[in-house]
Amino acid sequence: MISVDEARQRIAAAMGPVGSEVLPLDQALGRVLAEDVAARVSQPPVAVSAMDGYAVRAADVQSAPVTLRRGGEAPAGGSYPGKVKAGETVRIFTGGPLPAGADTVVLQENTEASGASVVVKQASALGRHVRGAGLDFQAGQVLLRAGRRLRARDIGLAAAMNVPALQVRKRPRVAVLSTGSELVPAGGTPGPNQIIDANGPALAAVLRSFGAEPVTLGIARDDVAVLQEAAAGARGADLLLTLGGASVGEHDLIQKALGSQGLAMDFWKVAIRPGKPLMFGRLGDMPLLGLPGNPVSALVCALVFVRAAIDALLGAEADREPVTAILGRDLDANDGRQDYLRSELGRRADGSLVATPLARQDSSMLASLASSGCLVVRPPNAPPLRAGAMVPVIPFSLGPEGF
Ligand code: AMP
Ligand code: MG
Repeated sequence: MISVDEARQRIAAAMGPVGSEVLPLDQALGRVLAEDVAARVSQPPVAVSAMDGYAVRAADVQSAPVTLRRGGEAPAGGSYPGKVKAGETVRIFTGGPLPAGADTVVLQENTEASGASVVVKQASALGRHVRGAGLDFQAGQVLLRAGRRLRARDIGLAAAMNVPALQVRKRPRVAVLSTGSELVPAGGTPGPNQIIDANGPALAAVLRSFGAEPVTLGIARDDVAVLQEAAAGARGADLLLTLGGASVGEHDLIQKALGSQGLAMDFWKVAIRPGKPLMFGRLGDMPLLGLPGNPVSALVCALVFVRAAIDALLGAEADREPVTAILGRDLDANDGRQDYLRSELGRRADGSLVATPLARQDSSMLASLASSGCLVVRPPNAPPLRAGAMVPVIPFSLGPEGF
């Protein structure tokens, strides 16, 4: 049995980045940049005013009040053709280019205009309310790096950089196969001993939220030939996820069925709860990750391992900040497996997070996963903990979108 970290590393190391495509900005949200992006323009392109007011020479406004002659105007998008001479001022607006000769802007509120003269009522320091050329960024500067998962603010920045389309990773295609003779698709009519396939839809959804494209292979009965035929449908995918059939029972047939189809196992069994019977290997060229069938195990393993696999396929930077919370109740010492405990998540009046593990952690109980606020992470062999200790958590509201 290997540790969670080692399993995650081995999974990530086995994935090469998928190909890339060029997308216009309005389709790039959530995608992962495949190359560094440099600004094509400087912003602002020239020195501009940060305020509505008057462009002046600082030398003229070292003491106040002072009366200046009013020249013309410099609106945003326009320009003042002349040069501001000593004792002169030009009306300027936010974003308007600073006219030649001027080096400072005085606020409209601190002036009084009458006819051709403007009284500046407050002295001003050199460069006040002026945005220098390239204050935000300079042409040629790399502002977005390969591996970045694009957010709305990045889209805005790329537009400001005059980059209308971005080279991003294609969505990895991940085949999803539910296995189990007891399973019926949602909306079907379960027989007396049958249950609904929760994992297929759950994994498809979670894959989408990670930035992958699920390819649903449906449900395969626990039968070697059926499993072989269903798995063949995954050909060409970047990853095959099998759900269920990975433990030690006589009907857990994935290894048996796919062994003769070229399955080369890397590891099987990870020191995690829920989710011990996790397997990883290759089916020909295609990586195969076998998740346990219990729905909570499958989803926790998706969060811990499938996400790492998708990030590696996307060449995505790690963008998850560790979160800690105050433990809401005492916990016993842990055994050798890393636990992910479904917990309520609340806040104290001072804003600090409090995570209270649920008493029952049965890995078949999906309703409690849906209603819980976070997972508390308990490292292997952790000593008993008292309520009030700080513990690492994976919060669902702040964490992976869509989980
Ligand atoms: P397995 O990993 O195949 O031994 O399954 C473990 C438990 O999870 C069994 O109780 C299965 O009935 C259940 N299970 C397996 N696959 C699914 C699924 N796709 N949706 C819901 N429950 C499942
Ligand atoms: Mg099964």
